[in-house]
Amino acid sequence: MRLKEGITYIHEHITIDLSGAKKDLDCRLDTMRETTKELKELKERGVSNIVDVTNRGMGRNVEYAIKVQEEAGINIIFSTGYYKEPFLPREVYNLSEKELADIMIKEITEGIDGTEVKADIIGEIGTSKDTITTIEEKVFIAASIAHIETGRPIITHTTLGTSGLEQIELLKSHGVDLNKVIIGHVDLSEDIDYILRMIEQGVYVAFDTIGKTNYVPEEKRLEMLREICKRGLSNRVLMSMDITRKSHLKSRGGLGYSYLLDHFIPYINENGITQRDIDNMLRKNAVKFFE
Ligand SMILES: [Zn+2]
Repeated sequence: MRLKEGITYIHEHITIDLSGAKKDLDCRLDTMRETTKELKELKERGVSNIVDVTNRGMGRNVEYAIKVQEEAGINIIFSTGYYKEPFLPREVYNLSEKELADIMIKEITEGIDGTEVKADIIGEIGTSKDTITTIEEKVFIAASIAHIETGRPIITHTTLGTSGLEQIELLKSHGVDLNKVIIGHVDLSEDIDYILRMIEQGVYVAFDTIGKTNYVPEEKRLEMLREICKRGLSNRVLMSMDITRKSHLKSRGGLGYSYLLDHFIPYINENGITQRDIDNMLRKNAVKFFE
């Protein structure tokens, strides 16, 4: 699979529904018209690819996303896999690792939900805060099997940036090529030493919660990015916003998808992050990751 030339948002959800478990209707992102409008604006700013890491149990809807893709003229990359507790569907508890891997492999090689749309990534597979539960470990093992079988890369979810090193250890011990792994949400850890240790293991890391200043102020993200770039490691970082709520959209008073390009990038560029580093993080690394 090849990405289109241009900017890639590495961790998004075209439509997602976590409203059941979260008991909050804001977490049902079913705003097709508004999403399409914002993605059109992104396209005008040079964005070509959106990696949609919505998978089984998260309200993934391929037909919906394809409609958005066609209307917005932006390339969407689809995912297979399972998220984390308590968002895992029944089948994760009932089936074996091998059987779960077979479901993922089928979505990669044949298509998703009876369509011919294939998954190109295994993600976002996740772990809980400060711990990997037994059932989450099962998903990681199944994902490892599917990765080895298909060569498709893996994107993870860490809860508030925790357990990233443990995720790496788990994937490594099951034979995963760490150069084909992105550890997600590492910016939420606010711990640069921890992030550097992960990069040292050979994975990519994602600063994919840009704009979520209720968790981490942008000054902190800048400070961590400066440390990474100073060491010449901008070739290991990818970026995104992880928009998951209606209230994240511009029309509902949120920052909207273009915030990353309109505000965050100029901000870090004015504060010591070079255009070359930015091109690595927004454009080049994603292409290499998917090669
Ligand atoms: Zn996530």
